[in-house]
Amino acid sequence: MSKTIDEILKQTDFSKQDILALLQTNKEDRNKIFTHAAKVKTEYVGKKVYYRGLIEMSNICSKNCYYCGIRLDNKKAERYDISDAEILDAVKFAHESKYGSIVLQAGEISSPKFTKRISNLLKQIKEISNNELGITISLGEQPDEVYKEWFESGAHRYLLRIESSNPDLYYKLHPKNKKHDFEIRLACLKSLQKIGYQTGTGVMIGLPFQTYSDLADDLFFMKEFDLDMCGMGPYIEHKDTPLYKYNNLLMSIEDRFTLSLKMISLLRILMKDINIAAATALQAIDPIGREKAIKVGANIIMPNVTPGMYRDSYKLYENKPCTDEEASDCTNCMEIRIGITGDEIGYSEWGDSIHHIKRIQQGLV
Ligand code: SAH
Ligand code: SF4
Repeated sequence: MSKTIDEILKQTDFSKQDILALLQTNKEDRNKIFTHAAKVKTEYVGKKVYYRGLIEMSNICSKNCYYCGIRLDNKKAERYDISDAEILDAVKFAHESKYGSIVLQAGEISSPKFTKRISNLLKQIKEISNNELGITISLGEQPDEVYKEWFESGAHRYLLRIESSNPDLYYKLHPKNKKHDFEIRLACLKSLQKIGYQTGTGVMIGLPFQTYSDLADDLFFMKEFDLDMCGMGPYIEHKDTPLYKYNNLLMSIEDRFTLSLKMISLLRILMKDINIAAATALQAIDPIGREKAIKVGANIIMPNVTPGMYRDSYKLYENKPCTDEEASDCTNCMEIRIGITGDEIGYSEWGDSIHHIKRIQQGLV
């Protein structure tokens, strides 16, 4: 006889069959997973949520991922590149608002000029915040030397989603060429970990062609990779991208949302002490989507501090939330939102990954 959800949740190790059963639960059983994940979260990382002020510094990108609204070939995307002075203003805002960290994210650009620019920015961010701000960067695939230079310049966390751990699915989402090579992306993740970054990855959930088996494998991939942080969220279609033509294969947006919450809960159960972000894409579907993710296992939120005038142009997907607001509007709104989850905000704290701290203590970093 097959196991009940209660029986599976009592285990400490999970087979692929267990994870598949958990991923496909109905509403009643789903709540059992959520409750269990919330308990694990409280026990291992506590009830504090950490802020990472997100600066979407440019939507210029040299790549052509089939799902992304700011891909190179989308001529409809109006391109911008925020000046260093404006970036530093956003940094000051995050610092003054007692956000413990910031995230610099952009489309993928690789050039000596860009490398230098980021290194200089990182040093300036450290300086103007008296080294009080933690820095995460999410600037795509880069040569090892670049990752090293940025690490030495002050970035200590890196987010690079694997998008899907199944190479076959990966190549349905990306052109098959050197610029979009699964093995290179994986090698980049490995070198980030080796250099000493707190390394974060993640996947999109509810993609066309994606199966429950793929998602179960994604969870095992993250566990095996021993990552420190994860940011994963629902795939949201964008009409000016090639993947849009497969919209008929998608599950409903509500189901993608619920499945994303399940993935977050299951990852919390599998990797108890990592940092898990409540992806912004969740909020594009449900106005309190990120808060729901906090309730079921996530412990990181990335409030957008990009100057309002640029936000509308950083459109990876449609229905992006809060593009008509300024960063200061978000602060009040966020505090009220976290309040409803029963968690508190770790103001002015870095909120580093406990998993990474333990790996250092074990001599693994
Ligand atoms: N260029 C960098 C960082 C910016 S893109 C990179 O690709 O790593 C950040 C993330 O946005 C991507 O990793 C991808 O998972 C997500 N994304 C892009 N298009 C999306 C879409 N249509 N729906 C949901 N997430 C999307
Ligand atoms: Fe560029 Fe990142 Fe979008 Fe791919 S996902 S097209 S690399 S911004």
